[in-house]
Amino acid sequence: MTSTKYKRILLKLSGEALAGPSGYNIDPAVLEQYSKEIKQVVDLGVQVAIVIGGGNIFRGVSGERSGIDRVQGDYMGMLATVINAMAIQSSLEKHGMYTRVMSAIKMEQVCEPYVRRRAVRHLEKGRVVIFGAGTGSPYFTTDTTASLRAIEVEADVVLKGTKVDGVYTADPMKDKTATRYTTISFEDVYEKKLNVMDLTAFTLCQENNLPIIVFNMNEAGSLLRVIQGDSDTGTLVTSN
Ligand code: UDP
Repeated sequence: MTSTKYKRILLKLSGEALAGPSGYNIDPAVLEQYSKEIKQVVDLGVQVAIVIGGGNIFRGVSGERSGIDRVQGDYMGMLATVINAMAIQSSLEKHGMYTRVMSAIKMEQVCEPYVRRRAVRHLEKGRVVIFGAGTGSPYFTTDTTASLRAIEVEADVVLKGTKVDGVYTADPMKDKTATRYTTISFEDVYEKKLNVMDLTAFTLCQENNLPIIVFNMNEAGSLLRVIQGDSDTGTLVTSN
């Protein structure tokens, strides 16, 4: 068995990424690609927990603009994450992995309620655990859910799978001279106002010494390289 740097990971995927180029709904090609990437690390014995966003279906903030009360919209957003969690679940199962969806809002007909000890047990048994419904509370994000659940289940790292290769000195789309950080401290991210996660999510990681790696989930093999500790893939945010 190839050795891996991390034994238990929390993978955060955005809802928008699931949508593929169209920007909405769920793109089966993206699901397929993600499942293959995740299988590579599950096959190495890495314990995988996933938090998925809901931005491809609904965001509380955008609901507010169309006259939906913020809290109501946030609950709609949380339900959207469960739809995405179920889509990922069925794709992972098609690829031969064992999975559980655990929701922060009870919906027993479709998935288990979130119970920390049970989540840990599932992970120990090699099941991929997908956390749905965010934190279960409005005014939070799925990035915050990722930090919180990672701390709760004692994951070694939060892996933020995005469309970019990592954290850059400036926006690489706008500034051609921008370079990628290989590693950066929490303090520097904060001082330079770099965009890694929202502040609540970020602070939770910092206060609990939980490293974050930002990497490009759309690049084949990058999840595996990150797990193996390849310093050329993504950006590692740590305390030192
Ligand atoms: N949400 C919430 N509480 C949570 C997590 C999510 O209210 O703990 C709602 C919020 O309205 C958010 C939506 O669910 O806009 C979808 O999550 P998010 O925007 O984080 O998804 P992503 O941007 O990752 O697709």
